[in-house]
Amino acid sequence: MSHKVNPFESLQEQIDEAAALLDIEPGKLERLKRPERVLETNLSVEMDDGSVELFRAFRSQFNGDRGPYKGGIRYHPGVDRDEVKALSGWMTYKTAAVNVPYGGGKGGIRIDPSQYTTAELERVTRAYATELRPIVGVDRDIPAPDVNTGQQEMNWIKDTYETLEGTTEPGVITGKGLDSGGTKGRVRATGRSVMLTAREAFEYLDRDISEATVAIQGYGNAGFVAARLLDDLGADIVAVSDTSGGVYNPDGLQEFAAKQYKRETGSVVGFEGATEQITNRELLTADVDILIPAALENAINEQLAHELGADIVIEAANGPLTPGADDVLSESDTYVFPDILANAGGVVVSYFEWVQNRQRFYWSESRVNDRLERIVVDAFDDLVETYERRDVSTLRTAMYLVAIERVRNAASDGGIWP
Ligand code: NAD
Repeated sequence: MSHKVNPFESLQEQIDEAAALLDIEPGKLERLKRPERVLETNLSVEMDDGSVELFRAFRSQFNGDRGPYKGGIRYHPGVDRDEVKALSGWMTYKTAAVNVPYGGGKGGIRIDPSQYTTAELERVTRAYATELRPIVGVDRDIPAPDVNTGQQEMNWIKDTYETLEGTTEPGVITGKGLDSGGTKGRVRATGRSVMLTAREAFEYLDRDISEATVAIQGYGNAGFVAARLLDDLGADIVAVSDTSGGVYNPDGLQEFAAKQYKRETGSVVGFEGATEQITNRELLTADVDILIPAALENAINEQLAHELGADIVIEAANGPLTPGADDVLSESDTYVFPDILANAGGVVVSYFEWVQNRQRFYWSESRVNDRLERIVVDAFDDLVETYERRDVSTLRTAMYLVAIERVRNAASDGGIWP
């Protein structure tokens, strides 16, 4: 995996490409390309042995023209200012692409959570929540989980916020546990939108998804749920991987058993249901119908793009292709269904969670899933309608055209003040 490409520059290139087709004044375009504000702070946290450790933490609020900032919190040693800025921009255009009333934000802590105890992680999370308190709020900025964070961290953040504010306001954060004001259907939402995007893509391309073979890089929340739901449609999951490597079986892997094996051993590597152990590079270039990058950004660079075996890429991860890879694939017969549509299920169901929190009225799982499906299918239709009408070279550019127009219009409607 290449780490040379700066994801913030990738985001700006993607915006420029689409914005060139819209008549946007340079000053207004600049506003669409950079965050409104970024919090960068120190968290000084006491460890179990009494020592104090310092963690660098961030929150980027990219654009609030369409509603409160919305986006996850990542715990990863690679978190830095530009990554958080890029991820907050992708959130802005993701919420616009699927037309939910939010702007975009993103946060993160530079930490390898596997090296800390639960009690230490709780103190780190509460320290972060304390730093976030002045800038978040149910109508201001609503964080959510991302890589290496989940219900537990969200519950801690909600509790810290509510304690400091002296209120009950579960809608300040989404992705909570069910008993803490979470919604049914949230855990599987991102994988579900990946599956729905793949299903719609096959229908659009007049192909049969029940005949498809699938390779998935990154067998975490998004990757595993996508595997399960694609299997339900009859597709064969033939390769999956994680940071340690991958496994392959041309007749299909039993995706639940592979997940169980990863849960027990920490990796899919060594899974007995595989016929071959493979590298991540071999997974990414495997001869399959669908490739789903579901790990981190920049997984596929220009060189790898030349070697892809799949002709349909569904981006579960945020920003898994470098701009160079995008250029290569735009000149090939490969269809790349972009992250801001394919992985939007997480933010859409977060939106449902926030609506339920505010109404104090909770929905059934089938209602959540039905409404998610309607939103993803509508966004997919907007994508292909724009792709064909504007005659653009990539599906990504078409999706950005839809999204940027919505953000630009919201900004123009409000005007410039003072
Ligand atoms: P996760 O932590 O549950 O899973 C990530 C997986 O990727 C892990 O299995 C990890 O081992 C693997 N991985 C990490 N680096 C790798 C590498 N270099 N090569 C191969 N595998 C690698 O995270 P997740 O929630 O599934 O998120 C995955 C991606 O999806 C991220 O880009 C995230 O931003 C995006 N995403 C997630 C959600 C969500 O709701 N979970 C929503 C939108 C987007």
